[in-house]
Amino acid sequence: ARPLSFSPRPVPLSATLAVNEAIARKRRQGVRVLPLGFGEAGIPIHPALTRELEAAAARGAYGPVAGSAVLRAAAAGYWSRRGLPTDPSVVVCGPGSKPLLFALLLSLGGDVVVPTPSWVTYAAQTSLVGARPIRVATPRGEGGVPSPALLADAVVRARAEGRTVRAVVVTLPDNPTGTLASEDTVRRLCSVARDLDLVVISDEIYRDLVHAPGRAVPSPARFAPERTVVTTALSKNLAAGGWRIGVARLPDGPFGRSLRDSLLGVASEIWSSAPAPMQHAAAYAFAEPSELVEHVDRSRRLHAAVTGAVAARFAEAGAEVTRPEAAFYVYPDFGPMRDGLRANHGVRTAADLTGLLLERYGVGVLPGSAFGEAPEVLRMRVAPSLLYGEDDEQRLAALASPA
Ligand code: PLP
Repeated sequence: ARPLSFSPRPVPLSATLAVNEAIARKRRQGVRVLPLGFGEAGIPIHPALTRELEAAAARGAYGPVAGSAVLRAAAAGYWSRRGLPTDPSVVVCGPGSKPLLFALLLSLGGDVVVPTPSWVTYAAQTSLVGARPIRVATPRGEGGVPSPALLADAVVRARAEGRTVRAVVVTLPDNPTGTLASEDTVRRLCSVARDLDLVVISDEIYRDLVHAPGRAVPSPARFAPERTVVTTALSKNLAAGGWRIGVARLPDGPFGRSLRDSLLGVASEIWSSAPAPMQHAAAYAFAEPSELVEHVDRSRRLHAAVTGAVAARFAEAGAEVTRPEAAFYVYPDFGPMRDGLRANHGVRTAADLTGLLLERYGVGVLPGSAFGEAPEVLRMRVAPSLLYGEDDEQRLAALASPA
């Protein structure tokens, strides 16, 4: 065999998947490890969803690139009930929201502003499509939205260097911080995006997991409808990430229509159409029958109890923790413990800290550096939802109530 003279383009494994692999390696060595890195809801799939999926298992034909008419109508209804009136024609379905975001970035063809910290994938996908991420810090306690005051400056500077900047990404509510930005901040971001001629990509995959009942998610689609793309999926609220199904809501109007044409072109060359049985089950889910609404509500309460309890433990230990407001993430800052961690454990960076937790305590978490924080910022992300199983509500209640 003759060896090849070149190497493939180096692309590191997504940090969330890499931590999974590190955990799996430990387990193969017989070490017990708590997997608290990956963004998994950790609740079972509702039997009604399995039933719908099975009912459609024989659908083997390719469907429309944009997704089935039934799914697009159901997703349009889902958004319309949340104060975002939606015509099914602006809905595009894909095999997960991650590929939809990737296709969008390919269509937009320019640099993208991403918040720091933010979900690992935005910056990585931007680089993969040959563009550059522009990092902008979020206001304190309001994860997921680049600070509107810093946004303009960063974009103007990038453009002065001759760069093409096309979009800004927001996550509402946010992963990794588990917080939800205020309406005022989102409005201000939209106003800056309008002045700067930017598309706003609003990743709302955790929308239904806001802990406080009735607290509204301030979608930029309300304040800048002509330029906002919203994405969501069944991966988090219904814990069906492995089913790989997601939807995007494109803007109405001329720009939205041309973006749709471009997106469908990209999709047609990558995935042709999302899996038909999954689309059928997703249409059922987006129609929100009461059994699923109750299921999501129950898991929302579980996530609130677990993240609240875990955040309280970290705070007791001396870390600084923003109170989780949504989803299943806790994002403790170990800055206040820096001296002790350094003296007692030789911890200098976030990676040292997560290494210590994995090696010494058998707990797999992600360093804040995976989300774009500077390595010396001792932040890490915990997704504590995997701590419980289907019947663990009592254990949870005990965890949530103070000792
Ligand atoms: N968006 C955010 C903010 C996420 O945290 C994740 C998963 O971790 C995704 C999107 C992935 O979505 P999907 O499973 O629909 O590809």
